[in-house]
Amino acid sequence: MHRITLIPGDGTGPEITRAAVMVLEAAGVKIDWDVKEAGEKALQSTGEVLPEDVINSIKRCKVALKGPLTTPLGAGFRSVNVALRKKLNLYANVRPVKTYRGVESRYDNIDLVVIRENTEDLYGGIEHMVGDGAAESIKIITRKASERIVRFAFEYSRLHKRKKVTAVHKANIMKLSDGLFLQVAKEVASQYPDIEFEDKIVDNMAMQLVLKPEQYDVLVTPNLYGDILSDLCAGLVGGLGLAPGANIGDEVAVFEPVHGSAPKYAGLNKINPMAIILSSTLMLRHIKEEETATRIEEALSEVLSEGKHVTYDLGGSATTSEMAEAICQKLRN
Ligand code: NAD
Repeated sequence: MHRITLIPGDGTGPEITRAAVMVLEAAGVKIDWDVKEAGEKALQSTGEVLPEDVINSIKRCKVALKGPLTTPLGAGFRSVNVALRKKLNLYANVRPVKTYRGVESRYDNIDLVVIRENTEDLYGGIEHMVGDGAAESIKIITRKASERIVRFAFEYSRLHKRKKVTAVHKANIMKLSDGLFLQVAKEVASQYPDIEFEDKIVDNMAMQLVLKPEQYDVLVTPNLYGDILSDLCAGLVGGLGLAPGANIGDEVAVFEPVHGSAPKYAGLNKINPMAIILSSTLMLRHIKEEETATRIEEALSEVLSEGKHVTYDLGGSATTSEMAEAICQKLRN
């Protein structure tokens, strides 16, 4: 029995996390969920968007499955998600991107992973006004965090039998900050002669991903470029509804879809549960339930290629729970 923190989340979060829990149950994996609220819902009941109770649960369980959280608009609220990643030192954001048969997209042969540094860069939130007419935002890149994420990317590549790591940067302009990231990437790469290494300037990378995505395998990036490029990659394979993610630290890991809480669809049982179901298969691999993860991925692939029980974004008319139930049926057969 695994003890795992479950954060249903805001907006459409509860609908998709329910779908993921249904699928995990149908697959037969034994999980004792420690359900915790964060985000808007927690704000209403406790006055805080990220209660200490949530952090303690994740620290205890070591693993969490999380629905998206709405960051309330207004002064004083920084992203709950960014705060969670910082508090738990979840330094590696892993976003696999793959084409699926039955999902209409521009390419049919993409299988790459974006590994994004999750703790620094422009996401430190260190900003201030300089008088009335200018704003300054500080970009921090450290040797320690750069080395940690690049090493993570190479170790990930070895473990998952990936062949090439591409470091993404803008060192031609930001010679000190991105220059440091690139220099560290080259140093770490020299310790992994079995894996091919190259680097690309971020603007060229964006173009190459649109033109020849099949040439890329593992991308390792500072925080901002990874955030942008991973959405671009999700677009290449059919949209945000398909994009899973993992936030990994040395002690704990939090698995969540790339997309947000899609509040306009909240309560409509409408959005695609695939991203959170795939996030839960990443979670299963993390807790060494590989065989169950593979079975769920196969069941999901079958439902996609049949195309009968898929949500609106995939051209179908199934609800969130109907699509999840179709996956459960495959798992029970
Ligand atoms: P969003 O990802 O919630 O939605 C953008 C649009 O993408 C939706 O309107 C919908 O058309 C589509 N979409 C998203 N997920 C889908 C799915 N599973 N199936 C089908 N269509 C889907 O982005 P947003 O509107 O910019 O953000 C809404 C809220 O979510 C904000 O408060 C934001 O801060 C938060 N957010 C949270 C996370 C997170 O928890 N990790 C990530 C991003 C945004």
